[in-house]
Amino acid sequence: MPSSRTGKLVILSGPSGSGKTTVVRKLLALAEPRLKLSVSATTRPPRAGEVDGQDYHFLSTEEFQRRKAAGEFLETFEVFGNGYWYGTPRSEVEDRLPQGISVLLEIDVDGAMEIVKQYPAAVTIFLSPGSHEELERRLRGRGTEPEETIQRRLAAAKRELAAMHQYKYQIVNDAGAVNETVQRLADVIQNDSGDDA
Ligand code: 5GP
Repeated sequence: MPSSRTGKLVILSGPSGSGKTTVVRKLLALAEPRLKLSVSATTRPPRAGEVDGQDYHFLSTEEFQRRKAAGEFLETFEVFGNGYWYGTPRSEVEDRLPQGISVLLEIDVDGAMEIVKQYPAAVTIFLSPGSHEELERRLRGRGTEPEETIQRRLAAAKRELAAMHQYKYQIVNDAGAVNETVQRLADVIQNDSGDDA
């Protein structure tokens, strides 16, 4: 019965270039306040326009390691391909689920599998860009980045795509049909019956 008072833990992964950021923004606009995005911690420096505490908690490597040692993260990973640390703060999840608020984690495949060990009822969703050609087109379409950066992203994306079948749901984000993708995500989250753990 979906009337459980516990919120659902939703994990969304997908390679950069899958359109994840846009989809997440629209999904939250549709599903809030019942669904909240977990704000991760990272040692990566902020990109232009990113806000501390909103996009990420931007931490020094020392502070990140201190919190990790203190058990403040549910999972931490040095994300493949960029060398920075990322972690899911325990409080982002544990404070909300008991209040009946669902939590969305937008994390990489390694982090996702680590969380599933702790939350087997998590709703795991992989957002795929369709084809490898489509992904490459999107990654190259971003602008004037050096070939080396693009190759690194492609390698990371290939690795993520290889893990997609470990997710309960695979959703293709067709360019030009983002609203349909968002609606499918909302339906999958609402209808998933794994919230009995
Ligand atoms: P970006 O630096 O482009 O924002 O994110 C790089 C990668 O790190 C993405 O695949 C993103 O999903 C992942 N990521 C973001 N936060 C976390 C986290 O808390 N844990 C893990 N394992 N991965 C994360």
